[in-house]
Amino acid sequence: MTEPLNDLSRLCIHTITTKNWNLEQAIEGYVQAGVPGVTVWRQWLDGIGAPRAGELLRTSGLDVVSLCRGGFYVADTEAGRSEAVDDNRRAIDEAAAIGAPLVVLVCGAQPGVPLLDARGMIRDGIEASLSHATQCGVKLAIEPLHPMYAADRSAINTIRQANDMAEAIGSPHCGVAVDVYHLWWDPELESEIRRCGEAGRLFAFHVCDWLSPTRDLLNDRGLMGDGCIPIRQIRGWVEATGFHGYNEVEIFSDELWRLDPADFTGKIKTAYLQHV
Ligand code: ZN
Repeated sequence: MTEPLNDLSRLCIHTITTKNWNLEQAIEGYVQAGVPGVTVWRQWLDGIGAPRAGELLRTSGLDVVSLCRGGFYVADTEAGRSEAVDDNRRAIDEAAAIGAPLVVLVCGAQPGVPLLDARGMIRDGIEASLSHATQCGVKLAIEPLHPMYAADRSAINTIRQANDMAEAIGSPHCGVAVDVYHLWWDPELESEIRRCGEAGRLFAFHVCDWLSPTRDLLNDRGLMGDGCIPIRQIRGWVEATGFHGYNEVEIFSDELWRLDPADFTGKIKTAYLQHV
């Protein structure tokens, strides 16, 4: 069986992947490496500010794929939930300022808040954010996270839950981000990707790999091909729905962050061509 040839035309890198580069360095590094897309993490706007970041990004010619991340709607006080909605409003403004068409939502969870309650808060929070998002021409993507993050990062842990919530919300500005790291284990993955894509809600596709053993719950993601996720197969399911957006490389890794970011970007390109 011959596998389809890949090229770099759909490669996007998240700024957190090359953590030691600030925004200006990342822009320069990606352009030099021939990486066409970037997803900007909000911390990369600190200091520089979204308007100036937007100027740099537009001048660079890079495609701004999304802003990571909004969400965190779950809080055990009304004031906390209200602050989260305010913060998402700011995230949406920042996305508009840098030309990002999408804000990716890590929906939130808090130890002590029951998951069912948390999901209600998430839905309320997204609904409270949607009119501003719509006005700004920015979409919101629910990113289901692996269940190991259910206590403190996201009460949305499967793609079915994300699809159900996006469907219940029923806005063309609310969809789903599919991240292979969080979802690869799910026996419903193929069918729920199909459901998501056919509903026009598959807004983003994130890749990296699952290392075995995983030594840290947060910062031990692998480079594509170094773990056990069938990334190309999952990409095939995603693209079979008609998705033709970017394949976004999002790696948090204490080990890989030690590399020189330019060398690491080179490794990403090689791994991308072979395994995505
Ligand atoms: Zn992701």
